[in-house]
Amino acid sequence: MKRIGYIGLGIMGRPMAENLIKAGFELVVYNRTPAKTEPLIALGAAVASSPAELAGRVDAVCVNVTDTPDVEAVLFGERGVAQAEADKLNGLVVIDHSTIDPDATRRLAARLTELNVALLDAPVSGGDIGARNGTLSVMVGGERGAFDRCAAVLAAVGQTITHCGPSGAGQATKACNQVLVSTALLGVCEALALAQAEGLDLDTTIKVTSGGAAGSWQLAHLGPKIARRDFDPGFMVDLLNKDLNIVAHAAADHELPMAATALVAQLLREAAQHGRGRDGTQALATVIERRGGFEFGHD
Ligand code: NAP
Repeated sequence: MKRIGYIGLGIMGRPMAENLIKAGFELVVYNRTPAKTEPLIALGAAVASSPAELAGRVDAVCVNVTDTPDVEAVLFGERGVAQAEADKLNGLVVIDHSTIDPDATRRLAARLTELNVALLDAPVSGGDIGARNGTLSVMVGGERGAFDRCAAVLAAVGQTITHCGPSGAGQATKACNQVLVSTALLGVCEALALAQAEGLDLDTTIKVTSGGAAGSWQLAHLGPKIARRDFDPGFMVDLLNKDLNIVAHAAADHELPMAATALVAQLLREAAQHGRGRDGTQALATVIERRGGFEFGHD
């Protein structure tokens, strides 16, 4: 694995692609909006005009786009990866870092297998900070052999790299991850609302609670942003809504009640309805503010 293709240079894709260059891989990039390739070109990456052209030039293709239909489009759409010449596709590995539906992933993997292409579902957790620092947790599903062949590629973007099982297991693990993320985030919002109502200093509250049994990534990284009413993304409300739809489908398939997750999903939808969809997920706090009749950081 020497030449790597990267499709999707958004908040996550761009820094992850940069880390591949830093690790010494030759990179070929494609982005639907071409201007986003420029920072990568400045670091030495080559550009492809389509996913198909990109796939013909590399040993593995990383994909980091928004949702299930977007992954399907870059793989099987017009000028998609599957349109590359058959001999170029033979032995190719696609590493999909997008967060998408586990069942759809299994179907995409089966279609790629017919072209002698292996698909690893490899969604990540750790946010834009983890993407920049190369400290992501990467949860991988797919053939063990393909996973082993891609070890160096995955190690360049993440710190905790785990083979979770066959195709779809990475995405299923990520669905569990998003249950943990979203329910913890609601707890952070409510705890800080109570802290403010009690007249406590929010930064002090975050610091002391982070050091004990209540500590979490959500509290440590998003708590201070909520206290400052900094709602810049990070990870957008719309994307967490997408992920909780994936969770809801899986829960329905298994007839599993998931009351806490369903509640956060409702509140996040309310945030989106009030124009917060493209803000960071910490904008869940604005729903708590509106319902509580207060603003963080103000008496
Ligand atoms: P983003 O900044 O919105 O970037 C999305 C990327 O996908 C852009 O490069 C976009 O191209 C491309 N794209 C979307 N639909 C496409 C299509 N149909 N065809 C071709 N390209 C398409 O989103 P992000 O935050 O990087 O998230 C990417 C994935 O990582 C999502 O699945 C998300 O759930 C997951 N994720 C995000 C975070 C986070 O903290 N942000 C953390 C973990 C996982 P354009 O530039 O043309 O729009």
